[in-house]
Amino acid sequence: MKIDGACHCGFITIEGEADPDKVQICHCTDCQTGTGSAFRISIPVPGASFKMKGQPANYVKTTADSGRPRVQAFCPKCGSPIYSTSPGDGVQPSYMVRVGILRQRDQLAPLRQNWFRSARAWVTQLDALPKNERGMP
Ligand SMILES: [Zn+2]
Ligand SMILES: [Zn+2]
Repeated sequence: MKIDGACHCGFITIEGEADPDKVQICHCTDCQTGTGSAFRISIPVPGASFKMKGQPANYVKTTADSGRPRVQAFCPKCGSPIYSTSPGDGVQPSYMVRVGILRQRDQLAPLRQNWFRSARAWVTQLDALPKNERGMP
């Protein structure tokens, strides 16, 4: 399916083709740190269909859990995570795009959870928490 989205401030916009059956959660500790949250949700977008406007900032981090170096791209103005990919010049084979920036995120439910051994213990119990339809009452 076609996907498109933008960072929080709108400086970076992306579009591409992605398979909605490939949405995944990553519970690794690097994703917890990199998102400032409990886990990351991503979908792979082939490099051939990936288009972007605006220049993201990035850094290369060899993740502790997988041992692989990954380029982590984010908006230099608002800090929204945009994607990770393999290091190297030019178009890469695949971009792991962050689902939270996508307009189609309602249709992109995760179908697997990776690195569950480092998942926060409470993530399976969120449904038990009191729910406010809006912010704090
Ligand atoms: Zn931004
Ligand atoms: Zn991760």
